[in-house]
Amino acid sequence: MANNAGSFVIDGLSCATNVELLAQQAELYRPAHLAVATEEARSRLVKLLPSGYAPSIGIGASGYEDLAKVPEAETVLSAQSGAAGLAGTLSAALAGKVLCLANKESLVLAGGLLRHLCAETGAVILPVDSEHNALFECLAGRSDPIESLILTASGGPFLDMPREKLASVRPEDALKHPNWSMGKKITIDSATMMNKGLEVIEACHLFGVKPDKIEILIHPQSLIHSMVRYKDGSVLAQAAVPDMRLPIAHCLFWPDFRASVVPNIDFTTCGALTFRKPDFDLFPCLRIALQAYAQGHDACCVVNTANEVAVELFLAGRISFLDIPKCIEDALNHVDVHTTNAWKSRSVTELVLCVKAHIEEIQERTRSYVCASLS
Ligand code: MG
Repeated sequence: MANNAGSFVIDGLSCATNVELLAQQAELYRPAHLAVATEEARSRLVKLLPSGYAPSIGIGASGYEDLAKVPEAETVLSAQSGAAGLAGTLSAALAGKVLCLANKESLVLAGGLLRHLCAETGAVILPVDSEHNALFECLAGRSDPIESLILTASGGPFLDMPREKLASVRPEDALKHPNWSMGKKITIDSATMMNKGLEVIEACHLFGVKPDKIEILIHPQSLIHSMVRYKDGSVLAQAAVPDMRLPIAHCLFWPDFRASVVPNIDFTTCGALTFRKPDFDLFPCLRIALQAYAQGHDACCVVNTANEVAVELFLAGRISFLDIPKCIEDALNHVDVHTTNAWKSRSVTELVLCVKAHIEEIQERTRSYVCASLS
């Protein structure tokens, strides 16, 4: 996107396979570049585009990479689901873009590399994830010493469910998030609370803090999106109705301000705001994610990959809800990781290629391990 005095020129758009929606958006904005996941999606898309409009259409990871670095765009919104978002994110960071990052897996898989790229290329990461966007807002313009960052969590649909009942929950139960409307993978991650575990890792990379400076607080109403506790005892909170349009607008218009993005909260009718500690026994994914962060990048990569595989298997009805954390922890304890010498690379381009190859190798090894352990 090129930002032209508060309005946007859309230079490129992408989707995975929802080409009907992409075609509608492309007809409206006429970007010069599109990208989709597969050749089959490309064929369907081409038939839906209006005559006389012939954008370039990239395919797969290389298509998303090319789209994320088109020279005319200043800002790139990286919002693919899961590890597939890494290619586009790294490409935008390498090209020095303002990177509005909704794909937390990019930071989980390659947080150190992304921070390095920002320093080298001048890329800037703006957090679209609602909690991190709230922290970004609460930290803006202040250099006061921080006691902790407080990440709020809705607790998902199974917050008060006894453990014995969790064993028999079905995918359709887990896909009913109480407050947010999101994609399947992140909705299951919310139900297991792996989403919050990944968000702790995301916050560590974004804000340069250690996990012991991050508090997780269950807040079932999802009105306070996160808070910053300062050393003087004061706490700044960011509150809004749960609606992703707000963090997206904060990032797209940053550093400018956009009015009337979401409806106001009515504090006289919204009911009580409640808070409690998370239950690490009921939601072991939180503990597993923190253990992975303590072990390093490669362990985070194993956990992220094992989680993606486990969520797919759960959605396909092949494992139970309680098997998800078991699968992930088993992979974390058994998949061999080895150090990479990618950091000896001579250029940032070479570094990105080497780290990507290293991540792909760990992903492959983790997928093989999880699938073999279940067969
Ligand atoms: Mg979030």
